[in-house]
Amino acid sequence: MAKAVAANMDWNHLGFQYWDLPYRYQAVYRDGEWHEDGLIEDSSLTFSEAAEDLHYGQEVFEGLKAYRCKDGNVNLFRPDMNAQRMENSAKRLSMVPFPKDKFVEAVKAVVKANQDFVPPYETGASLYLRPFMVGTEPMVGVKPSKTYVFRIFATPVGAYIKGLTPMPYMVSDYDRAAYAGTGQAKTAGNYAGSLYPAMKAKAAGFADCLYLDPREHKYIDEFGGANFYGITKDGQFVTPKSDSILPSVTKKSILRIAERQGLNPVETQIKMADFDQFAEAGAMGTAAVISPVGSLTYKDQKYVPFSETEAGPVTKKLYEELLGIQYSEREDFDNWVQKVDLK
Ligand SMILES: *Cc1c(COP(=O)(O)O)cnc(C)c1O
Repeated sequence: MAKAVAANMDWNHLGFQYWDLPYRYQAVYRDGEWHEDGLIEDSSLTFSEAAEDLHYGQEVFEGLKAYRCKDGNVNLFRPDMNAQRMENSAKRLSMVPFPKDKFVEAVKAVVKANQDFVPPYETGASLYLRPFMVGTEPMVGVKPSKTYVFRIFATPVGAYIKGLTPMPYMVSDYDRAAYAGTGQAKTAGNYAGSLYPAMKAKAAGFADCLYLDPREHKYIDEFGGANFYGITKDGQFVTPKSDSILPSVTKKSILRIAERQGLNPVETQIKMADFDQFAEAGAMGTAAVISPVGSLTYKDQKYVPFSETEAGPVTKKLYEELLGIQYSEREDFDNWVQKVDLK
């Protein structure tokens, strides 16, 4: 694949796609320790046909964005949370975690090295970072790998779902993750299993699936790649408490913002049967940002929490505050932003 050239990028029409940028970071685990290769140019990876991750799925990943501010600075949003979550995911898959302090430094090095690819402020686009780790030991027996490759690549992306456009969703009959399974880990296997239901939902005209809890199919869990929230008719922010959902950095941040906005936020089990109590609902995640649910279809019944064409007022207010902090335009009251040194 040809390398991307910054001067040729059409910043206003970026989708959510991969571009082969000049630099990525790599570290390799072997003989019981991490060896840092640092920034490298080659975007390909070479390992054995018997590599652990190819057969038994030892893979974990992260996703975060670098934002170009009005003054030209570049912000990261809570990268320490991604470092911690990747450690948690790695432990759940019996992988050797990459050191957390080095994670944030490596993310910054990748942004700095590819800084010409952080999209201009006006475009609303950003530089997406994808840290990931794979088990590379050749084996046919089922056991954890003794060797790993950790990498961080970057690719410029437009808004995944164009900011605040309501989307139609359907409740899936399938599960994204098993009860007491790997739902809390950001791992490839959860996504592999969600492709079939997601493609079926898309073919039926929906943006994605909303999954219910895998034990009883009674409570709302989350979307394929984003957490769920609802705003009750009396203005309370509600988001699911569940052991089978991915703990979203965006969700944790919005819980804090909602508290400051007087929305009395709670994490609790939400019965699917109570969905009609919501005056607004949406999806939260790094890629989705905050994306309103235009409609939700469940057992042939279509629910419209607010409007199929317009975001609700509470959703708008949360969105503006979150983006305001990410772009250093609103008070960073909990010190979430880390600036990247570009020199
Ligand atoms: C990554 C992810 C999210 C969103 O998490 P953020 O930290 O907010 O980006 C939500 N659900 C799933 C399944 C995910 O993989």
